[in-house]
Amino acid sequence: MAIASNAYDRLSSPARAFLDRQHGHFIDGRWQVAGNSLPVLDPSSARQVSSIAAAGEAEVDAAVGAAHQALQRPAWRDLPSLERERLILRLAGLLERDAGLFAELECVDNGMPLAFAGINVGGAAGVLRYMAGWASKIAGDTLDVKMPFPGSQFFAYTAREPVGVVAAIVPWNVPLMMAVWKLAPALAAGCTVVLKPAEDASLTALALAGLVAEAGFPAGVVNVVTGLGSVAGEALVRHPLVSKVSFTGSTATGKHINRLATESLKKVTLELGGKSPTIVFDDADLEQAIEGAANAIFTNAGQICVAGSRLYVQRGIFDRVVEGVARRADSLVLGAGLDPASQLGPLINARQQARVQGYIERAREGGASLLTRRQSPQADGYFVAPAVLADVRQSDALVQEEIFGPVLAVLPFDDLDEAAALANDSAYGLAASVWSRDLGRVHRLVPRLKCGKVSVNTEGFPYPGLPEGGTKQSGFGRDLGREGLDGYLETKTVLVRVS
Ligand code: NAD
Repeated sequence: MAIASNAYDRLSSPARAFLDRQHGHFIDGRWQVAGNSLPVLDPSSARQVSSIAAAGEAEVDAAVGAAHQALQRPAWRDLPSLERERLILRLAGLLERDAGLFAELECVDNGMPLAFAGINVGGAAGVLRYMAGWASKIAGDTLDVKMPFPGSQFFAYTAREPVGVVAAIVPWNVPLMMAVWKLAPALAAGCTVVLKPAEDASLTALALAGLVAEAGFPAGVVNVVTGLGSVAGEALVRHPLVSKVSFTGSTATGKHINRLATESLKKVTLELGGKSPTIVFDDADLEQAIEGAANAIFTNAGQICVAGSRLYVQRGIFDRVVEGVARRADSLVLGAGLDPASQLGPLINARQQARVQGYIERAREGGASLLTRRQSPQADGYFVAPAVLADVRQSDALVQEEIFGPVLAVLPFDDLDEAAALANDSAYGLAASVWSRDLGRVHRLVPRLKCGKVSVNTEGFPYPGLPEGGTKQSGFGRDLGREGLDGYLETKTVLVRVS
């Protein structure tokens, strides 16, 4: 299979100019270039297209120090909430202005198709707009306090205050979107932020820092440090002036971060891995279900936390549905994200490519049947052909472990009880989707699914007002929605004696 030509050749001149810059860290409103650098590889060609700075403890300390100072300065602390809202809206507007550049950078950094990158940039701007609105609507309660003290009267209220300096640590799979899911509510709440993007995809976080400066945020309110998780990320989590760690990434790293953060009792939000089931009943609209099941796993080459990587199909329609999903998989055009024809990009790096291929090979050795017909292409980039595998056991690694690639395990079920049991038989609890025209059946199943989000007769796309997050080993806390904002606020109770 031919792979579309190298993405780098298709980049616009502003995108090339951005790649050619010497990137540093954005600390206290200024760019600081220091220390070592890390290569930026285009996943569609494995070619180095840029480099980023690798922060050590000193840069992290400077960034956290700047965020801590900014929290105390009147320019941010006393800024009227309507002005905070205005600044966040301005940032959204600038992101919309530069949407084309951001989409290109996301493509060349992460490998995702341009159309998907465009959706992500638009979605990120939407999250900024949604969260901006909350800035001026944060409120506590007034409470009636009556005590049996003769002649004494009290009144009490609660105030909602920013939690402090936030360390936002995000993954590479949808880099800009993940960064904004943290940044937007933290800023709306009045916090200051140190953002550490993933070492494999930091470019749009750096571009966003440029827009933060242009929007006019006071220095130190938003800082971006790039570098390795084990060095820069860990220094951030350990830093005593960080009050909250908001992390999205793998479950293994999330557990490690949680242990570190517990030592100083930092608040933690963890959005972790998933192994989300798609459940198709025999009364579903099968064409829609087939398309939905395929999109759920193949969007962004399966590198989505809520990817529907387990497909459970009621036995009577099993063959028809899995055949439909396999043929859709075979029809997807693999290619560099910047090629407009491309529907499925490469994986993020060589390690992920080898890991995903390893899962497919081991499953086949264990007796699984590969229903898709394509071989992974021989190309310099990190491409893996989509794979649909049947004849697997519920206990197999393919069904239990997060693969984070375009790999779908399909299994039959007989009735609702069995569907619920299979769906819940997972260490993860992020999302699920259910396809059925029988509302009674749907609403009997939904309460039994142990996960943070259930989509019914649709794929589970994110929406700014709807909380996203998991249960079990998919983490705790929520991004987006009002709950997403709450994670960046503390409650202060004030008790007043008035006589
Ligand atoms: P990862 O855990 O390897 O890295 C995530 C981030 O953590 C990166 O910025 C990395 O540099 C940093 N990091 C790594 N080690 C660290 C350490 N010791 N201390 C501090 N920071 C450290 O995850 P990834 O491979 O970049 O992303 C893929 C994972 O993210 C998948 O498991 C996916 O399911 C998950 N994810 C979850 C959601 C969600 O909302 N639940 C959304 C997107 C991705």
